[in-house]
Amino acid sequence: MASICDRCRHFRPFRPMSQRILRELGRFDQQLISQLVSIIQDERQVQDEEATMLVELFRRDLDRWDARPAMSDYCGAREVEGVFLLHEVANRDGDCPGYDPGPRPSWSCHTCDHRVLGDGPAGDQKTMDELKALALEAVPAGMNPSTQDMTGHLQLVGASKSFEAAQAYYLGRFLFEQPRYLSSCTAGSTAVEYAACVVRNPDDGCADWTAADAGVPETWTGADPGLSNHPGPATADRAEARDLIERLKRL
Ligand code: SF4
Repeated sequence: MASICDRCRHFRPFRPMSQRILRELGRFDQQLISQLVSIIQDERQVQDEEATMLVELFRRDLDRWDARPAMSDYCGAREVEGVFLLHEVANRDGDCPGYDPGPRPSWSCHTCDHRVLGDGPAGDQKTMDELKALALEAVPAGMNPSTQDMTGHLQLVGASKSFEAAQAYYLGRFLFEQPRYLSSCTAGSTAVEYAACVVRNPDDGCADWTAADAGVPETWTGADPGLSNHPGPATADRAEARDLIERLKRL
């Protein structure tokens, strides 16, 4: 029977970093969206370069990428050895001997014991609560409530997320300071260098994955990327804050 790569457990369809970041951070911050647009443009270029490289590897009769491709599918049958095979070569005639129709691994960071959430959302919520209380105090006193601090804080949150997205994509690591919004991995981090999950586990196939707890649910369901990794209040709180700012402006 002819083997078909996209039904094989070793097949690794590429998942662009921009989408992995979006999955974690949601789409509610303007500056983050701008950063992601720029990353997507860059990814498109990488995709073209990898397509050219693929032709060259074929021409040289090679069966593997030099490193894990960022924007191309590959065969992960030997990825634990650091070998990223060209599935187009391994299965050139559709009768690959390594074809295995078993389910692909689903080793997502969301269910892994090594995953650490940043403290950004909780800290932001505390700051917003304080700023909201201050703004609301002005109303009964007959003063004009200021919304400037809240607006400024929301912009800072967007800028911080945008900066983390750029660090993850362009540098691939975080030095000296753990990311505050992207989740990081204790198995890939040291005292001075932090590995972001979006970098370390691009295809939910991480060999270091360790179950956090039997039955721990995925916090991301795919239905609402805005919920991000951080369940509940952070996103809801930002929406509520924006709503409050608008209402205070109308007073
Ligand atoms: S990168 Fe691997 S070890 Fe680290 S949190 Fe994700 S699945 Fe776990």
